[in-house]
Amino acid sequence: MPLNDINITDLTGVGPKAAKRLHALGIRSVRDLVYYFPREHTDSSHTTALAEVQSGVETTVHVVLKKIQSRRARNRRMSITEARVSDDTGELKVTWFNQPHLADSLREGDELLLSGVVKQTKYGTSMQSPVHEKIANDHDTLHLGRIAPKYSLTWGLTQKQLRYFMKQALERVLPIADHLPAEIIERHSLMPLTEAMQQIHFPDSAELFAAAKRRFEFDELYIIQLASQQIRSEIQAMNAAPLQFHEHAVKNFVSDLPFVLTSAQRRSTWDILQDTQRGFPMNRLLIGDVGSGKTVVAAIAAFNAVQCGVQVAIMAPTAILAQQHYTTLRSLLEQHDISVELWTSDTKTPAAAGQQQLDEVRADVIVGTHALIQEHASFTNLGLAIVDEQHRFGVRQRKQLTAHSGNSDTVPHLLSMTATPIPRSLALALYGDLDLSLINEMPAGRQPVMTRLVPAAKRTDSYGFIREHVAAGEQVFVVCPLVEESEKIEALSVEHEYEDLSQNVFADLHVGMLHGKMKADEKDAIMDQMRRKKIDILVATSVIEVGVDIPDATIMIIENAERFGLAQLHQFRGRVGRSDKQSYCFLFTQSRSPLTQERLQALVDSNDGFALAQKDLELRGAGEVYGTMQSGVSKHSILSLQQPELIEEAQVAARLTFQDNLLDTQPLLQKKLTNFVESIHLE
Ligand code: ADP
Ligand code: MG
Repeated sequence: MPLNDINITDLTGVGPKAAKRLHALGIRSVRDLVYYFPREHTDSSHTTALAEVQSGVETTVHVVLKKIQSRRARNRRMSITEARVSDDTGELKVTWFNQPHLADSLREGDELLLSGVVKQTKYGTSMQSPVHEKIANDHDTLHLGRIAPKYSLTWGLTQKQLRYFMKQALERVLPIADHLPAEIIERHSLMPLTEAMQQIHFPDSAELFAAAKRRFEFDELYIIQLASQQIRSEIQAMNAAPLQFHEHAVKNFVSDLPFVLTSAQRRSTWDILQDTQRGFPMNRLLIGDVGSGKTVVAAIAAFNAVQCGVQVAIMAPTAILAQQHYTTLRSLLEQHDISVELWTSDTKTPAAAGQQQLDEVRADVIVGTHALIQEHASFTNLGLAIVDEQHRFGVRQRKQLTAHSGNSDTVPHLLSMTATPIPRSLALALYGDLDLSLINEMPAGRQPVMTRLVPAAKRTDSYGFIREHVAAGEQVFVVCPLVEESEKIEALSVEHEYEDLSQNVFADLHVGMLHGKMKADEKDAIMDQMRRKKIDILVATSVIEVGVDIPDATIMIIENAERFGLAQLHQFRGRVGRSDKQSYCFLFTQSRSPLTQERLQALVDSNDGFALAQKDLELRGAGEVYGTMQSGVSKHSILSLQQPELIEEAQVAARLTFQDNLLDTQPLLQKKLTNFVESIHLE
């Protein structure tokens, strides 16, 4: 019977009330239930003889019930159930409070497991309020005398209930058809699904549990790898116009730059120019810490593409960033007779932004927001698309772009760029469909940003510091926290801080403000003033998080720093330290929580985005750090992503699967794969 068809209310003991509570845990079908894995296990498989029991220690005993009775305590408010139990070595008194029903449900002569702490009180020695389980004829226990699962619960649901439901669910659904090909199971010594399902909940030993866990982790990584390899081969089957490497022209372009490329920038540029020479589309992710200089790498790729007579689209997540890329690229490219055009909702006429028909792009290079370019641009000959701050550009989005690329039989080469410093093993696991280039080196002469934790009492000191630096011609960002529930409240907090700084603290300086509620042209005007140094201090929300490049900004102040993740704080900090001047980052916080202190201290101690990403992973887990949508990976078993060997095994297995056409005989696996590929394309 297909698992999904069994409703949980078919299980004994699951009435409408319990069903509702299970729904709250996301469990609707018996299938959902068996895939609800335990958070941890408790091991009470070791029992102690009564003669050996020590008081004060959590102990499990295997006993026979001699006598049991309930009575009211003297104050009448409480009931006390007392029992005597024995084994071959001795006797013990047991006491329960307010569980009078026990005297009815347990019988003299019952064989029991009890787990609890023995205490000495003025009424004598007794085991107090132990967990108990009656041993049935089959000797198969659920709760005690074994490694028992502990699940995340919800109000009104107990571990005992959930275990009882789980046992029935497993009986109903096992054995289940395994979606893994037998070849893969054998080759990678994996536990078959039926056994793994049993052992993940009710393991017979720690070893068997580990094997079950490995099986499910493998499953998850294997699906990711299958999807990656499938997407990769789909892309390799597409045609792209080969872009010849104009070596001489590129060398001239590079030597005209106002700085020398770092060797990591050279390597990445080389990777890209190699890729784009081929007849199938490049699919590369450029990963580089904030300020590592990704934009110029993109500019070189664009320059070479234009030499080949094709157009280039550069897509940014926000209008501010698009504007900035436009300014940078124009300054780099126009002197080489390359035309650059900007498309954001306010450079286009209002009619154009909402219109249905497409607008023809005439320039060599067009810079704009993702949405605008994907939906409205029609190219005469698009050869290269560059996407900033988006990890993966789905096959579907690529096809959409291709539809307007002016060339129906080829698709553009694609370069994605991200400043999310993701450890390499994790990048391989999550983005196996992409080729990776890493910029792991900063331009020479950069001084690490000095970072300080500033308690509330020291706040005014930092104002004096700011004043001195502004007098020396430097600029300041003040970041106010994101208010998730309401953009309006968020704007208010910015306005409030802006008023305070502009009217009181820095009444004599030029203070500006930027938040999400402002219109696009207002935002651009502000950024423009910041760039032209008409503003000394810019109070902003996290809209300035990614990419903003103002070389004279040297001080970054972050209000309520505890509300941000490490990676995000590192991004903010990356807004300063973009020149050879010493820069500073002040983390304002009122939180004294040790975990917050540890997190913020990590930022003070390290300027390395990759190290911080690793730290963030340790402190918060991959699910929190990278999100679940980004990867299409579920939260509970995302731990598998931290196991490089298993990732490699899954990669090998996926390769074998395609080589030997194992998918053809595995409809269950095919279905899983299709669902997964769809889920990552929804990003
Ligand atoms: P990001 O990788 O964060 O997008 P940018 O491309 O905005 O970084 O570059 C940050 C700053 O560093 C820019 O002002 C850029 O002009 C400068 N830059 C880039 N490469 C170099 C280099 N090799 N040497 C010196 N400065 C550089
Ligand atoms: Mg950038």
